[in-house]
Amino acid sequence: MSKSIQAVRGMNDILPTETPRWQYVEGVFRRLMAAYGYGEIRLPIVEKTELFKRSIGEVTDIVEKEMYTFEDRNGDSLTLRPEGTAGCVRAGIQHGLLYNQVQRLWYAGPMFRHERPQKGRYRQFHQFGVEVFGLPGPDIDAELILMTARLWRELDMGEEVHLEINSLGSGEARRAYREKLVAWLEAREDELDEDSRRRLHTNPLRILDSKNPAMQDLIEAAPKLVAHLDADSRDHFETLCTMLDEAGVAYRVNPRLVRGLDYYSRTVFEWVTDRLGAQGTVCAGGRYDGLVEQLGGRPTPAVGFALGLERLVALLEEAELPDATTPHAYLVLAGETAERGGRLLAERLRDALPHLRLLVHSGGGSFKSQLKKADRSGARLALILGEDEMLSGNIAIKDLRGSGEQQHVKQDELAESLARVLATIDN
Ligand code: ATP
Ligand code: MG
Repeated sequence: MSKSIQAVRGMNDILPTETPRWQYVEGVFRRLMAAYGYGEIRLPIVEKTELFKRSIGEVTDIVEKEMYTFEDRNGDSLTLRPEGTAGCVRAGIQHGLLYNQVQRLWYAGPMFRHERPQKGRYRQFHQFGVEVFGLPGPDIDAELILMTARLWRELDMGEEVHLEINSLGSGEARRAYREKLVAWLEAREDELDEDSRRRLHTNPLRILDSKNPAMQDLIEAAPKLVAHLDADSRDHFETLCTMLDEAGVAYRVNPRLVRGLDYYSRTVFEWVTDRLGAQGTVCAGGRYDGLVEQLGGRPTPAVGFALGLERLVALLEEAELPDATTPHAYLVLAGETAERGGRLLAERLRDALPHLRLLVHSGGGSFKSQLKKADRSGARLALILGEDEMLSGNIAIKDLRGSGEQQHVKQDELAESLARVLATIDN
């Protein structure tokens, strides 16, 4: 045997035993988007490298070391998207969706980052994202946060995640604060770890986000961005907090929440959990009023978030989910005429009952071995068709879960009988 080929490290197969959980989350998310009036946008997985450099920022972790960048056959530098916002803004500008308009958009799909794979951190992972364009006020920031809060409630994990918010102020206020912070940190440069020293002149705000325990006292003592907000940003933030209070959404103002991407301004937020170890951020977002212009569009306020599906699905690991995939019935077919007749009968049943999940046996074998397979499939009912039944026009229905009882009905009346059974099962 030749050596088998494995998947790329950090890029996972999602197997049929796991996909029901994914489909469930996806279904809840899609319904939520419709409920809030958001429209889906589908974007390419590959974009020009330049797009990410110009939006996410040259000195961010993503652009510095995480992107899958390659030359295509024309020599153009392309990148597998590490996130969705840049592509969404690019598409919005390109198709004239943004100027003088309000757009409420969502997208879903795989993202790619060359990180060290570990639990909750992969090289191909999946996000749902939401982006709103054309609305500058805190009310829309609140809408996004309320929408995510509702998502957790619908997934029955409201107790597991909590909200952290912060404001980064206007670009100008942030620049002024940045100077102050750099001066303060420079005076204490010998207390900085290597990472932070490197970031001191490239991305000093990220130092505040350091997870190094040895750095925590220093970070705690550093000047706070919230204290240096411009007046408009402070108003914006206070109004947002009031709106969250009024809606009964609990939050913690975390002055150290800065987010790793360059394009944010004003509101930033994260939903975090303690249940996933170091990879605790399930959803992250914020306002990025400068990005559309930065990418060549007209100035357009914008706000959005992205949530990581792997982490969400991991949180749902133990939850009891409605079962939408186990077959309702397994059709047992013994003998040649039954096999032929049974396949036609199955198609008639599918015509009559579009929601019926019916698994048709294939591959022959005795009644006994087929019934074993029917049982293993998890189906509630076995429908049994042999040569006798073909002659009499009947079919046997065996209850595999409850009483084990078996009854005969006319094949022509089978759809009606099954409809009655389906009505007693809630999915
Ligand atoms: P982290 O701090 O965990 O690295 P991030 O700030 O890089 O996250 P964002 O770019 O804001 O993450 O992406 C939004 C969400 O996407 C994250 O909150 C997380 O749930 C998910 N996510 C990000 N990177 C990965 C990854 N490598 N594997 C799995 N999920 C990820
Ligand atoms: Mg990251």
